[in-house]
Amino acid sequence: MTKKVIVSAVLMALCFAVVNEPLVAQEENGERNNTIRHPMLVDTTSTVFKEVYRFWCDYKQAQMEEFVMRNRPHTLKTADFWAKEELTENPNPDMILQSIYPPFAFMNEEFLGVSMRNDTLYELQTIFYSHYPVENTFEGVFTVPVVKTQDGYKLINKLTLNMRKYKTYQIGWLTFYYPYTYPFDEEKAKESFNRANKVAKELGIVEVTPIKYFLYENQTELLHGMGVDGSIIDFNLSNNIIHYGHSLWQNRKVDFTQGGEGIIHELLHVFIYDLRKNNNGHRFDEGVCCYFGDNVNFTTNEYQLGRLKEFLNDNPQINLSVNLAQGYKDVDGHFTNDSTASVDGLLYGYGDSYSNHLYNIQVVICEMIYKKGGMDLVKRMLFETKRNEDEYEMIEMLLGVKREEVNGVIREYLREKY
Ligand SMILES: [Zn+2]
Repeated sequence: MTKKVIVSAVLMALCFAVVNEPLVAQEENGERNNTIRHPMLVDTTSTVFKEVYRFWCDYKQAQMEEFVMRNRPHTLKTADFWAKEELTENPNPDMILQSIYPPFAFMNEEFLGVSMRNDTLYELQTIFYSHYPVENTFEGVFTVPVVKTQDGYKLINKLTLNMRKYKTYQIGWLTFYYPYTYPFDEEKAKESFNRANKVAKELGIVEVTPIKYFLYENQTELLHGMGVDGSIIDFNLSNNIIHYGHSLWQNRKVDFTQGGEGIIHELLHVFIYDLRKNNNGHRFDEGVCCYFGDNVNFTTNEYQLGRLKEFLNDNPQINLSVNLAQGYKDVDGHFTNDSTASVDGLLYGYGDSYSNHLYNIQVVICEMIYKKGGMDLVKRMLFETKRNEDEYEMIEMLLGVKREEVNGVIREYLREKY
């Protein structure tokens, strides 16, 4: 396959845990608006429609209860809505359906209808809209298989059905799944396995629990694989190939667009969660996964840090001692940490279509920590940092750099090295 230089875009949505936090908070306060498509267009009188729709509404109610009352007793459990085979495949099936999204239960919805596939299999399709960044922002079209069982209707993830049709390639604890048309690179896959094993060892993991790694030709195919037939994160960049990947720790699944068999970034995310034993990721994870793994947009870390140096030189108004990750945008579209100069009051991750500087800044911090105290010090930063807000405190503790010095120290480090 011939390709000129592919300069890829980085999607801020790459790391589920880091990016979705502000969205979830936003949804929680929002009003919900649920509608069904116009009865002239969909037969809402059919018994199957009524039963499946009722079942779907109950599932969303369960989602809401689990999310809002996760630490209090509640009666509805989302797990009860999934088919047995789904729960065997995915301990946390909601996460596949939600993919990169916050819980649907807090979003506006337009229910499109139910379609029969065979005697026991139906599919429902629905659209969700969020309140962010503006009211009624399209989020995605979702197709969800519904099986009719002796215990009533049950949900099953589209991916669980699709993966039965995929080709597989297994090497040790790692199994790749990909559609028949995908140009799988066996050599790269082996290389990645060996590299990931080395990092696992350095992190102190004795035996890696098996991971399934899904590969697709592009982001659109990847989303279709999960049952997302239209998405806010797709079709938003016309002049570059979008590389995209993410990991679902509890389900031990990773997916990636073409070439992902040569990238170990998402595998390292899974390793970090394995060691942390919970799903609470934070920003520094990205620095570690890029530094010891790969930069997710198929360029070298060296190239990206060179771009970060230029970016910071071109934007002297950015103060990394105020915010290491995000800034407001002024009327000219430049980043600023001054909220009074903000054109819309929203915070944006530092970066552009070619570079995710939010991640690159974390790579610099990771490199500085590793050079000072090796993997032991990196692990302290990984596991002792509880929230992103604590990162300055951790930087002072581990690197001896005070918050007010961070901006100067990072800029100086880049000037000397890149
Ligand atoms: Zn990542």
